[in-house]
Amino acid sequence: MPELPDIAVYVERIEHQFVGQNLLKLRLASPFVLRTAVPPISDVLERPLLGIKRLGKRLVFSFGECAGKTGGSLLVIHLMVAGRFKLLAPGGLIPKKLGLAALDFANGSLLLTEAGTKRRASIHYVSALTLDGSDPLAPFNRGGLEPLSCTADEFRQVLTRENHTLKRALTDPTILSGIGNGYSDEILHLAKLSPLKQTNKLTSEEWDQLFTATRATLNEWIDRLRDEAKNGFPENVTAFRKEMRVHGKYKQPCPTCGSLVLRIVYADNETNYCAGCQTGGKPLADRSMSRLLGKDWPKSLEELEELRPSLLGKPNPARSTKPTKSTKPEALPAASPASPNPKRSRIKAEG
Ligand SMILES: [Zn+2]
Repeated sequence: MPELPDIAVYVERIEHQFVGQNLLKLRLASPFVLRTAVPPISDVLERPLLGIKRLGKRLVFSFGECAGKTGGSLLVIHLMVAGRFKLLAPGGLIPKKLGLAALDFANGSLLLTEAGTKRRASIHYVSALTLDGSDPLAPFNRGGLEPLSCTADEFRQVLTRENHTLKRALTDPTILSGIGNGYSDEILHLAKLSPLKQTNKLTSEEWDQLFTATRATLNEWIDRLRDEAKNGFPENVTAFRKEMRVHGKYKQPCPTCGSLVLRIVYADNETNYCAGCQTGGKPLADRSMSRLLGKDWPKSLEELEELRPSLLGKPNPARSTKPTKSTKPEALPAASPASPNPKRSRIKAEG
């Protein structure tokens, strides 16, 4: 899943390429990617793109007024696990298998793709003005603290609001914004802290280590991804990168101490850590640790991302059905811009 550093660099590149231009066309290759019906998506056409920002793991495109259209509007895109952006030549073809949508500007097209058959990436289109004056982005805001702009005290306060394992606390979007499975492994390794350590058990020194490691890891990766993207768009956005120290490095030597990197497998997730650096040389027993994580976690980080805070810890009926193998739209529950799937239309229920 693209996390804070990946999305921050997408935001920079999209801003550089498209802000100030009018959206000429919006092509939807998959009807399911659009999760809102009102206002109609055609409303966005001809509007100028005023800005783009990150909201948790979402990107928010802010559009201004144009002839005949008063009041601004917002396009909110969540990439979920496999959604990615690519830059196309103006009006470039949407690839058949991966392509979900394209936003066409005069100097290029922003292509949204999603690998695999699970269609989870989403677009919401909303008015910037709500009837009751509330924040139009409130339904999309999970409320997590921004790790790069908060103070050490705020960081500690929000992570100790409830007692959780560090792994869970770092990756919960209602606690911290933008951190997922990959960077949390890297942060904990740099902080030399066990993923299973409970937030109410940290010493002052350990809080300093965690706060410093969080910022250092995120900034290091923003810099690296920015360098890689150069003047183009980030390529190969993946949770597994060769420069990572422990994430995705099971059985490979830790770059700090040389011990082999270990893992805790839980449902479809894997937490990687180095016993030498993080747990005083003691491997965490996989099975019992999975049980501990099981108590502290929903089945997967994807679920954590999708669930409302009130549903955390309870089974999610929307996820209990096996994903359909068919990629044919007809095989899915009725979900179209005109008649949104009730599960999908409750935007609060998604990450
Ligand atoms: Zn180590």
